[in-house]
Amino acid sequence: MYYPFSWIKTLGRLAGYFALVCVLGFYFDALMASVAIGAVLLLLAHYWNLYRLNRWLWHSKKMTPPKTGGVWEHIYEGIYYLQRRNRNKRKELGNLVKRFREGAEALPDAAVVVDANACISWCNRLARIELGLSWPDDAGRRIDNLIRHPQFIEFFHQGKFNHPIEITSPTNIEKILEYRIMPYGDKHLLLVARDVTRVTQLEEMRKDFVANVSHELRTPLTVLNGYLEMFNSDDAQYPPAFMQKAFSEMTSQSRRMQNLIEQLLILSRIEASAERVYEKVVDVPQMLRAIESEAGALNKDKKHQIQFDVDSRLRVFGIETELRSAFSNLIFNAIHYTPAKGHIRVGWHLLGKEAEFYVEDDGDGIAEKHLSRLTERFYRVDKARSRKTGGSGLGLAIVKHVLTHHNSKLEIASEVGKGSRFSFHFSTELTVVDSNATA
Ligand code: ADP
Repeated sequence: MYYPFSWIKTLGRLAGYFALVCVLGFYFDALMASVAIGAVLLLLAHYWNLYRLNRWLWHSKKMTPPKTGGVWEHIYEGIYYLQRRNRNKRKELGNLVKRFREGAEALPDAAVVVDANACISWCNRLARIELGLSWPDDAGRRIDNLIRHPQFIEFFHQGKFNHPIEITSPTNIEKILEYRIMPYGDKHLLLVARDVTRVTQLEEMRKDFVANVSHELRTPLTVLNGYLEMFNSDDAQYPPAFMQKAFSEMTSQSRRMQNLIEQLLILSRIEASAERVYEKVVDVPQMLRAIESEAGALNKDKKHQIQFDVDSRLRVFGIETELRSAFSNLIFNAIHYTPAKGHIRVGWHLLGKEAEFYVEDDGDGIAEKHLSRLTERFYRVDKARSRKTGGSGLGLAIVKHVLTHHNSKLEIASEVGKGSRFSFHFSTELTVVDSNATA
């Protein structure tokens, strides 16, 4: 407990002590000797307390000071109070640093603090993962010795930090990181690295998409323009056979554009769709009957043998327009890309507890190197052939989007010279078996 220090009391105690020493000196008739012994005893008592203070400060683990009295008690209490205050301050500061570090660890970006000598003072967990730093081993090492990309070194040494830079990640060349550097405090720098791979890819995709659409539209427009200019520029009379060919070519090119625009609209509708898959049951057998008759009309020239094996009890939760698009794209592709008089089998059946749809053909098949890219927009194995069939290169991209929306995935198996099999299945949650319908 704190009590105020009183010099009067202390001096009073000292005077009392020496008065007692003097009385004893008079009593034994040795005043000087008594005063000398009294002074030495007092000195020893002080040295004893100094020794205890030193032991407490440097060797004892106890926080509480040893018991004593007088002026020494006051000194012990003072030191104890200062120590306690320091300890609380340190604790508060420790908590603050801990909270700051936890906050920095929770950042979605890699963060590194660099001091005035370009040495690392601290880095978060993401910096260890994304930038390949190791902690605490890299503490105190120069950042430009650890991130060795020439563009980063140039950026770091130039000191112009008003724009970020984008370079590949030091740990994974597939990743693109955006580096930002923010100076703060006493020439310290905060380096923040963010994974922008997806954003860059999206930007690339957007550019490719615009270029592809323009390219796809330019060819038919050039053909149309060519004929129109020809008809417009001279009064020549063309033979009827030529006119017929010209009109048929113009019709086919304008259909191609129309088809492309329709496919693009379907694709964007599916991408923007917020419709829920679990709300309506789609009568797939009925839908397949309608597609079968459309396929019959499409098959007039090619004379394929098309066989439909449909389990009429099997329905699914889904979005009818989207599913129709996916089913018909796969069936019509088989008709288009299988040479005349081929065999095509379309199946809709239960595989375990899941509904499976497949289209098999014995056409030319697709080489392995194309398989992983078939669902990319505008990707075609043989551009010239696909154009002849009126293909836009968007069919399988639409199928992929529809299936993703229905938590499913397109599986493609194909062998050159033997044929192809396109299939997908619906999860048990989406599969509905209507036992009232006849199989
Ligand atoms: P397209 O509109 O050109 O048909 P798709 O996205 O539907 O575009 O198909 C992409 C490419 O996949 C086609 O150009 C074609 O080369 C190939 N393909 C699709 N289905 C088949 C199939 N059943 N047999 C062989 N090749 C196919």
